[in-house]
Amino acid sequence: MTRIAGLPYEDDLPERAGVLVLGSGLAGCAALLAAAEAGRYAVMLEKTGSIGGSTVLSAGLSAFAGTDEQRAHGIADSTELLRRDLLDVGGHRNDVALVDLYCAHQLETYRWLRSHGVVYGEIHAASGQSVPRSHPTDTTAMLVRLLTAAGKLGARLVMETTAQRLVYEDGRVTGVDVCLHSGERRRVPADAVVLATGGFARSDELLATFAPQMEHALRAGGAGCQGDGLKMAMAIGAGIRDTPYIKGTYGIYAEPHPHEDGTGILAVYKGAIAVNGAGRRFVDESRNYKEIGDVALRQPGGTTWQVFDSAVLAQSSDDVPIYAFAERDRAGMLVHAGSVEELERKLALPSGSLQTTVKEYNRRIAEGEPDPVGREFLCGGFGRPFPLDTPPFYAQPTGTVVLATYCGVTVDTELRVLDWWGEPIGHLFAAGEVVGGFHGSGYMTGTSIGKAAIFGRLSGTHAAAVESELTW
Ligand SMILES: Cc1cc2nc3c(=O)[nH]c(=O)nc-3n(C[C@H](O)[C@H](O)[C@H](O)COP(=O)(O)OP(=O)(O)OC[C@H]3O[C@@H](n4cnc5c(N)ncnc54)[C@H](O)[C@@H]3O)c2cc1C
Repeated sequence: MTRIAGLPYEDDLPERAGVLVLGSGLAGCAALLAAAEAGRYAVMLEKTGSIGGSTVLSAGLSAFAGTDEQRAHGIADSTELLRRDLLDVGGHRNDVALVDLYCAHQLETYRWLRSHGVVYGEIHAASGQSVPRSHPTDTTAMLVRLLTAAGKLGARLVMETTAQRLVYEDGRVTGVDVCLHSGERRRVPADAVVLATGGFARSDELLATFAPQMEHALRAGGAGCQGDGLKMAMAIGAGIRDTPYIKGTYGIYAEPHPHEDGTGILAVYKGAIAVNGAGRRFVDESRNYKEIGDVALRQPGGTTWQVFDSAVLAQSSDDVPIYAFAERDRAGMLVHAGSVEELERKLALPSGSLQTTVKEYNRRIAEGEPDPVGREFLCGGFGRPFPLDTPPFYAQPTGTVVLATYCGVTVDTELRVLDWWGEPIGHLFAAGEVVGGFHGSGYMTGTSIGKAAIFGRLSGTHAAAVESELTW
């Protein structure tokens, strides 16, 4: 087990809890702290030996609008623009009430996180954002700050303890059956339970059930993200939403690689093109990386390449994993060449194919002709493509990975889990990746971390408001 100094670990499973939070990712940590701030005895159970689930593996980008960091960079953004983008990206299939909830609480949550010492770096544009609003942060440091603050208020964290079943009596959840590291099984009564167990990117079983199209995609995400919360909630009648919209993320190194952290790079958003095994472009590279992932999975042989020049490499940013091109170069993950012809040979693409693709791409930009795959922007509706003509040239073999699953249980605006008929399941709340309905059919970068923080905090506050019926 990996322990971090200063966190409120508890070796003995408490007899009972006011608010019992399942999972130690951002949603769980935000819920724990909010419940503790509301004065409740909050206890977190984490299945694995380390905190953070997918949160600490992530690129750490949060989508907030109207922040100090944006203003400092002269970026004009607003809650209204964020809302419009979220609905457009989601194909208007989102649960509008959840989009409104995110928008109504995003700035106060951002300020709450900052008040707990969370620091954001340089703002970038990424998928689905009409203006740059990806706020990068060190996610492990963020969780440590939230857990430390919660610990000071009396909250506790129990590791290597797996929630297995929700105890459901008379229309409400009254506790959780858990399995300890020793294999012992115990019941923990609680006034309210918050599911913050993440998604199921690590469950072959659930992916095969809900997203068989991901069979050939690579897999990433927290080791404990196997859909336990979804299954436990479904077992007592919870509804689910958005399973048809599970998508892979384009950008990952095409084969498992020792230096790959699961995030991949998106050189396409800084000016690279994506080509398939025939050396041809196959998609408008400014599109959402989920949509690019869908198209990439259908390319012959699966492997594609992001191809770029030194002008793109020069825009590398080591602080933002998806734009850390230079770091990958140092790790030997990029193929180099002095000319496009040499790059084509090194990638074993059909003779002349990449040369023709790059030449045509550059010519159309220079002459202002429409792009045959419809590219007008670098990323979303932001930035203009430029010719790839500054040697050396680079390529990363690029595949598609399931990082997160986006669908999940139905909730109302108090984050109460709803059953199939839309009725709240008493005393059961959910937040983070286990919640469905928010993203709709597409995805904006930063909204999974954003959703975990915003809904996590709100779920903790609402769970804390449940009246205690336990004898203490
Ligand atoms: C490589 C990668 C890059 C990403 N980059 C971004 C990004 O830049 N921006 C963005 O918005 N999103 C990103 N995402 C997605 C985002 O990280 C997640 O959706 C988000 O962190 C989920 O937070 P969470 O708290 O809901 O779940 P998690 O952080 O996954 O935490 C869930 C926790 O619950 C625990 N758990 C599961 N089952 C049980 C159980 N039965 N009992 C007890 N504990 C249990 C798990 O072990 C885990 O620790 C990325 C994901 C990955 C994998």
